[in-house]
Amino acid sequence: MTLPIRPDLQGLKPYGAPQLDVRARLNVNENPYAPPNAVVDAIAQSVRKAAQGLNRYPDRDFAGLRQDLAAYIAQESHVDFVEPRNIWAANGSNEVMLHLHQAFGGPGRTVLSFAPTYSMYPEYARDTFTEYVTVPRKEDFTLDVDAAVAAIREKHPVMVIVASPNNPTGTALSLDEVRALMRAADEVPGGCVVVVDEAYAEFRRWGTPSAASLVPQHPNLAVSRTMSKAFAFAGARLGYLIAHETFIDVLKVVRLPYHLSAVTQATARAALAHHRALQAQVDEIRAERDDTVEWLRAQGWTVADTDANFALFGPFEDRERVFQGLLERGVLIRVTGPEGWLRVSIGTPQEMALFRSALLEVTS
Ligand code: PMP
Repeated sequence: MTLPIRPDLQGLKPYGAPQLDVRARLNVNENPYAPPNAVVDAIAQSVRKAAQGLNRYPDRDFAGLRQDLAAYIAQESHVDFVEPRNIWAANGSNEVMLHLHQAFGGPGRTVLSFAPTYSMYPEYARDTFTEYVTVPRKEDFTLDVDAAVAAIREKHPVMVIVASPNNPTGTALSLDEVRALMRAADEVPGGCVVVVDEAYAEFRRWGTPSAASLVPQHPNLAVSRTMSKAFAFAGARLGYLIAHETFIDVLKVVRLPYHLSAVTQATARAALAHHRALQAQVDEIRAERDDTVEWLRAQGWTVADTDANFALFGPFEDRERVFQGLLERGVLIRVTGPEGWLRVSIGTPQEMALFRSALLEVTS
């Protein structure tokens, strides 16, 4: 019997990187450090309390969690306007992105992004029957602002999504670049929202600003974040967004009722209470990232400037061969980005030592 699958979905494979049990898992930009014991204990306590009320649906508006996220982002991004009403959250920033597409996308509508970028963007668009178009980045992977502005004027997208730091390149945006996008978006007839995807924001190099500070002046700007990376929390699934209340009201319309379970809310609040302890791990990853970039460059590879917890490096004549060679030595990285490039997530010092020796073996 044939299933009446949507024609545009027929034959497609689900998105997903390999989950292999190897010595160094450096392929999906996870935080390599498990949550510290104090955080694990706090989560266990918090979940125990939540479990006592699991016969009831969770707080649909996750008021406590929004309050904690607002306090965290105010401190992390040095902004003073963020109130709980400026926060939205969902099961990973993947779900936040889907909400954005459900709310603003749809048939006859266009989303614009800048390639190479996060490979899920076209999938949110596909799933919401939205057209997805990209403008190429410059050779050094920075944004081609003139081309971006021209594309916004020509295509009239309903939404511009730009990852900063960008995946897979690590490239961050300056506030001037965000302002240029906003100016172009503000001229689109019918309106255009700009989403800055800051999944990796906590890893940015000193002095690289967050776009969150621009939100007060722009009711059509949203900054998306996640606890998956900096909080060592990928398994918990908690992403969030900062925007004007009017923007967030639109997202409420499309979310499923009770989309954030009581367990998720309790887990996330316990981790947020320990954000200072988790920040120490972020500092270590950042230092390891800078060392890795320096080492790769010293070996003669080109490495994209990175503000994230990964590095894109190359070029390799046969990147599949290098990927396989590393895998045979217990190091799993990612074949992604333009032809010839590879991406490595930053792991512990031990994992990175293994990566370095394996890479030398494979490429010598
Ligand atoms: N945005 C970017 C740019 C990402 O790289 C990722 C994760 N790979 C996400 C969003 C989604 O992360 P999560 O759903 O875990 O919050």
